[in-house]
Amino acid sequence: MAEPRWSRVLLKVSGEAFAGEGGYGIDGAVVQRVAREVAEVRADLGVEIAIVVGGGNIWRGMAGAGAGMDRAQADYMGMLATVINALALQDTLEQLGQPTRVQSAIHMAQVAEPYIRRRAIRHLEKGRVVIFAGGTGNPFFTTDTTAALRAVEIEAGVLLKGTHSGTDGIYTADPKLDPNAQRLDEVTYLDVLNQGLRAMDSTAITLCMDNQLPIVMFDLLGEGNVRAILEGRPVGTLVH
Ligand code: UDP
Repeated sequence: MAEPRWSRVLLKVSGEAFAGEGGYGIDGAVVQRVAREVAEVRADLGVEIAIVVGGGNIWRGMAGAGAGMDRAQADYMGMLATVINALALQDTLEQLGQPTRVQSAIHMAQVAEPYIRRRAIRHLEKGRVVIFAGGTGNPFFTTDTTAALRAVEIEAGVLLKGTHSGTDGIYTADPKLDPNAQRLDEVTYLDVLNQGLRAMDSTAITLCMDNQLPIVMFDLLGEGNVRAILEGRPVGTLVH
């Protein structure tokens, strides 16, 4: 078995990736693709994998707040949306034979374990994929920040931030708007913050910077990308 570059990783899967072409809801084919890649990498490379799922395919707190809702209330709706995605991913992973646990930051005893750090680590050691749902459990945060927080808590070696809609890393400008935009192979946390590069929100980047947690930003839907990163091939953009 090839030695993976990191033995424990945290994969961030944005909710929007699950929406597929439709832009809303859950596209089973997309979930299947992500789950298959995770299960294969887990089995072939023996990497411990934890996943944070977003909820943007169902609900975003900012959208609710923009329409006049109380921001905290709207954010709780967003956190609940992540639980729906987590259960979809769990089902798909388990159909592929990959044992999985969902841990939620919002208590929901009938469908998910509560988030307990030490128990999550134990699951990982036993080869289970742990899906963290419910964000941080607090409004005014994002699931990118959740990913950074959980990655640091479980002592993951890297945060793999999967993007979607064809963007395969961090660019000097928005590649959809600027034809001269160039993809960067490596950047520092401070470059991201100071230059306002589109990577993750500043809370998430700062948490990674303060804890020297590297981030790889890559195209989640590119076939074999997770494996390539873990085998040490250059994919996406490394933030360190
Ligand atoms: N959210 C929150 N606290 C958290 C994580 C998420 O309030 O710790 C809410 C927030 O409203 C956010 C929504 O959940 O808009 C969905 O998460 P996010 O937008 O990060 O999902 P993604 O962009 O990854 O699909």
